[in-house]
Amino acid sequence: VPAVRPLIAGNWKMNGLKDSVAELDAMLKGAAELPQGIDLLVCPPATLVASFAARVAEAQAGKALPFSIGGQDCHANASGAHTGDIAAEMLADAGAAAIIVGHSERRADHAENDAIVRAKAQAVWRAGLVAIVCVGETQGERDAGHTLDVVAGMLAGSLPDGATAANLVVAYEPVWAIGTGRTPTAADVEEVHGFIRKTLSDRFGAAGETMRILYGGSVKPSNARELLAVPHVNGALIGGASLKASDFLAIAAGC
Ligand code: PEP
Repeated sequence: VPAVRPLIAGNWKMNGLKDSVAELDAMLKGAAELPQGIDLLVCPPATLVASFAARVAEAQAGKALPFSIGGQDCHANASGAHTGDIAAEMLADAGAAAIIVGHSERRADHAENDAIVRAKAQAVWRAGLVAIVCVGETQGERDAGHTLDVVAGMLAGSLPDGATAANLVVAYEPVWAIGTGRTPTAADVEEVHGFIRKTLSDRFGAAGETMRILYGGSVKPSNARELLAVPHVNGALIGGASLKASDFLAIAAGC
């Protein structure tokens, strides 16, 4: 198994105001003390991307601090008559390095299907950023024994051609584990991540061997170490526990 640099990514969802910069500052301070070789990413609401990215840049002056800011979603188009939407180019302009696309909350709340997610991932690349594409089964699909089929379908439909280890991160997020406090067993995570790895290598060749595959769904300091130790788990996508610097840093320390 080739060594893959871990990525610990926080998804703040619809949480955070200007004064949340205090939490970002605490994360930046703590990040400087983490073991080397771990990439950190925080995806705040779009209103905070520019100010947070500027803050990160200040903290990085003269230092090697692998910390970046990302967006949570983007429109597939670069500009136009799409009231309320945000283009990948706008997030790039604000200082984002990556954008999450196809999060289950976007798929469920905004009826985003694989074709839409794929177009958004292409938009992320068009803007020169890293696409973090989320996939994962519902409880009903797991109970019916369809997890791998569902994940295969989502990968086939949501990932554009031309993915590389530098421009794509896949996040496996079982829908039933998001925000519920419930997580799959390490053996279940290993089965799905191994399957995703094989799917990525079959489709993208050598690049597929080193693309990062994150686990997401109720990751917290108390379970992070076990989940991060599973083969082909190359980091985590964290919702609730990424809002607090102490939790986020404790999870990263489990890499
Ligand atoms: C998420 O929404 O990406 C997520 C993993 O949420 P949580 O960590 O709160 O389950």
